[in-house]
Amino acid sequence: MEKSYWSESVNNLRFSVIRGMSLAAADMDDVINLGIGEPDFNTPEAITRKAFADALNGHTHYTSSQGDPLLLDKLSKTISDATGIDVPTSSILITHGGMGGLASALKTILNPGEQVILLEPHFPDYMAHVALAGGNALKVPTKFEDRYIPRPEEIEHAITATTRAIILNSPNNPTGAVIPGNILDSIAKIAVKHDLLVISDEVYDQILYEPPFESIYTRPGMAERTLVIKSFSKSHAMTGWRIGYCFGPAAFIGQMLKVVNYSTACANSISQRAAIAALDLDPTVIEQMKKRFADRIDMVCSRLKKMKGIRVHKPKGSFYILADISGITKQSQEFANQLLQQARVVVIPGYAFGQAGEGTVRIACTHNSTVLSKGMDRIELFLKRYLQKCP
Ligand code: PLP
Repeated sequence: MEKSYWSESVNNLRFSVIRGMSLAAADMDDVINLGIGEPDFNTPEAITRKAFADALNGHTHYTSSQGDPLLLDKLSKTISDATGIDVPTSSILITHGGMGGLASALKTILNPGEQVILLEPHFPDYMAHVALAGGNALKVPTKFEDRYIPRPEEIEHAITATTRAIILNSPNNPTGAVIPGNILDSIAKIAVKHDLLVISDEVYDQILYEPPFESIYTRPGMAERTLVIKSFSKSHAMTGWRIGYCFGPAAFIGQMLKVVNYSTACANSISQRAAIAALDLDPTVIEQMKKRFADRIDMVCSRLKKMKGIRVHKPKGSFYILADISGITKQSQEFANQLLQQARVVVIPGYAFGQAGEGTVRIACTHNSTVLSKGMDRIELFLKRYLQKCP
C-alpha cells in the first residue's frame, strides 16, 4: 500500500524484541528459551478449580467496570493491611493484567506531547504505552555500577515543564533491582516538590528475596499522587488469566474507570473469581514458588559469575538476571543472534530495554534447574569459542 493508513504512533512502534527472539527460535530444534518472562509453574489448582466452579455457578456476565464487588472488598482489606493506609474500594480498579492498568493509566493522565520519566533499562512496554497515549518518554539511565538503583538527583535533573509522571518498577524487569527505602523517600520528595504523579509498577512484589517490600505509595504525600500497578500474573503463575488491579487516589481511579469502561467494559469475570481464590490461597504455595526461583537464581548467577567477560548482580527480586556483556561486546542483538544460531539458547538482547540496556542480555530463570544448568553449559561453551574468535 502506498498510502499509510496507520496512525503515526502505531506505525512508529517497534515489533516486540522479546517476541521476535522467540519467533526466531520457533523453527529450531532443541532450543532452550531463557527469554520467556513468565513462571513455568501451572496456576495453583485451587485457583483454577474455584474459578471454574464459580463460572458454572453463573459468574460469566459483565461485572461492573470497576470489578467484582467481592474482589474489590478483599483487595481493600489486603492492601490496607499491607500498606497501613486505609484504601477503600473506591480507590481500587480491577484490570486486564498489570498491562491493562498501565495502558489505561497513561491514557488517563497524558495530553499530547507530555512527558513520562522512564528509568532505563525498563520493561519495554512502557515505551509503547506512553506513545499510544500520545506522550513522550523522558529516559533516565541507571547503571550496573549502581546496581541499577536510580539516582534521585538525576531524576530531578531530567524534569521539565511538561513532565507529568515517573514510572517506577521495583522489583525490576529486567534488572532484578529493588529500590531501597531511602531512595524511595528521596524520589517521593521530588514528586511532591514538582507536583508529579508516580506510577509504581509492583507486579513482582511477591517475588522478593529480601523482604519486607517497600512501596513509594506509603511515603508522606504519596498516597495522593501514586497509582500502584499489581498483577496476579507472576506471583500466582496466572499470566494467561489476564488479571491485575491498581489502586491510587479515588479521583484518578474515577477517571481511569471511563477508559476501562470504553475499552474493555470490565476485566474477565471468571479471572476475577480466580483472583478471589488467589487471595485466599495458602501463602506457603507462593513461598514454595519463590524458593524455587531463588534456588535457580543462585545457581545461574554463580555460573555466570565464573564466565569470562560477564558481570552480574544477583537480583533482589523478580526471576530475571541482567548479564552485563559489555566487556565482550556492546552489540547485544548480534550476540543474542549468534548464541541462538550456534548454541540454541534464547536470551533477550538488552537494547530491548532501552539504550542503557545495550551491552547486556536478559536471562529469565523460568525453567527448572536441569534445563537452566544445560543452558549455562551451552552459554559457557559458546563464550569460549566467541572469545577465541574475537578476544
Ligand atoms: N510490568 C512489568 C514490569 C512486567 O514485566 C510485566 C509483564 O511482563 C507487566 C507489567 C505486565 O504483566 P501482566 O499484564 O501479565 O499482569
